[in-house]
Amino acid sequence: MTRQIIPVEPFDYVIFGGTGDLAKRKLLPALYHRDHDGQLPEDAQIIGASRSDKSQKEYRDFARDALENHVPADQLNAESVDRFLKRLDYVPIDVTTAEGWDELAALLDGRSNGRIRAFYLAVGPGLFGPICEQLNKAHLIDDNTRLVIEKPLGRDLESARELNKAVGDYFKEDQVFRIDHYLGKETVQNLLALRFANALFEPLWNASHIDHVQITVAETVGVEGRAAYYDKSGAMRDMVQNHLLQLLCLVAMEPPANGDADSIRDEKLKVLRALRPITASTANDTTVRAQYSAGAGPDGKVDGYLEELQDEDSTTATFVALKAEIDNWRWAGVPFYLRTGKRMAMRMSEIVIQFRPVPHSIFGENAGKPISNKLVLRLQPDESVRQWIMIKDPGPGGMRLRRLPLDMSFAETFEERSPDAYERLLLDVIRGNQTLFMRRDEVEAAWQWIDPIFDAWEETTQTVTSYTAGTWGPSQAIALIERDGRTWNDGDQ
Ligand code: NAP
Repeated sequence: MTRQIIPVEPFDYVIFGGTGDLAKRKLLPALYHRDHDGQLPEDAQIIGASRSDKSQKEYRDFARDALENHVPADQLNAESVDRFLKRLDYVPIDVTTAEGWDELAALLDGRSNGRIRAFYLAVGPGLFGPICEQLNKAHLIDDNTRLVIEKPLGRDLESARELNKAVGDYFKEDQVFRIDHYLGKETVQNLLALRFANALFEPLWNASHIDHVQITVAETVGVEGRAAYYDKSGAMRDMVQNHLLQLLCLVAMEPPANGDADSIRDEKLKVLRALRPITASTANDTTVRAQYSAGAGPDGKVDGYLEELQDEDSTTATFVALKAEIDNWRWAGVPFYLRTGKRMAMRMSEIVIQFRPVPHSIFGENAGKPISNKLVLRLQPDESVRQWIMIKDPGPGGMRLRRLPLDMSFAETFEERSPDAYERLLLDVIRGNQTLFMRRDEVEAAWQWIDPIFDAWEETTQTVTSYTAGTWGPSQAIALIERDGRTWNDGDQ
């Protein structure tokens, strides 16, 4: 079965930070794929803008390199690459100065009115304000203009508010697209389809039938030479505040009245506001934070975090595990265990919905004990959705129970290639669809829950522990869940 490709309206995409890592690894390859699949209109234009002094030709060479390095060779088609590169232009601008904006305006000028214009700020958040201000001065903002920004969206509530204000002074909220690329993943959207396009799950989706939920985002990479930069954020700010809480919201939210962006985001916001605050008196039992020590990396032996950072006083956590509770009728008493870390045993992101056991087994001891159902949504490395159920072991040997996964991902049925989240999100911006983007109040509500955890850590005796690189985290994280008679899902898909 082939996918349906619906072309988008003509657009200009300006990538500030067009020479950076994000542009190279994600944005240019994603736009190339959409172009190759025939989704970009003929006169769509992509403009890189950064400090480096490059000509149009040099930027096209840079982009060709980026595609060759970050798109698998069998997906690179010479004709498509040439067509894509012809769309590219480049303007050198140091966005902290007033120079270069006229050149950018000239490239965007002379295009028909009403053309969609998107500015992707693939630069540090300190530059968001200056860029918006300069865009405004250069008269480059109108009702068809969109702004795309990415994490880090602040490092606490106060800085997030400042950032939102800096952007909000020039752009209306319906023009601002705050990317959390986890929301662009196929499986995450499949979660919405499973929940709200089937009558099967929703009646069970509550405290009466669900025992607990686990959300894990595990990486095998370390801080990759960016220790000094990472040390300012750590796992809590880098992963929990955005990706893990967004996933938690999609699992926990009430059914929205319809699928439009604000109906969904209203429901997510209610979840964030219902999260029980973690305080100094509860932090010891509900949180674990740790740093990796020397151990195994994906390609051999690796140093510990503090050696990489060359600062043994740092208390920045590269691993966090939390037990979150949602104080509402649907989820009362159902813990959401969250954990994320660098240098863990495998690269794996997943959501596990663990159902309660059957109330009574009618099968004798010989049949084996029924194992509780669980729904596992794997976001990476291989996206999949599996519902684990009990069946009778086939054959004449009498009644024996056996646990099997029902594979509900169907990815192979529909796709020759699983598109990267950025492909969907970059074009959602052009379509003006904000469903998979975070609203201002969501970002702030997430910080409102996260900030007091940092305060609680200051007040408690809890210290940052350590875990050996290449493991599933510190023993305290295992104890966090095992104290409640549960275990982490470390393998079953
Ligand atoms: P990077 O590789 O360091 O690139 C930074 C880019 O910003 C470069 O193109 C640089 O241009 C440009 N830049 C810096 N100062 C500038 C200025 N004054 N005027 C104009 N351009 C300027 O960083 P990155 O990894 O691409 O990340 C960019 C932002 O996205 C960061 O905030 C990062 O946290 C966020 N982010 C990155 C990723 C990722 O996968 N890389 C993922 C999520 C979020 P020159 O090279 O020409 O100086």
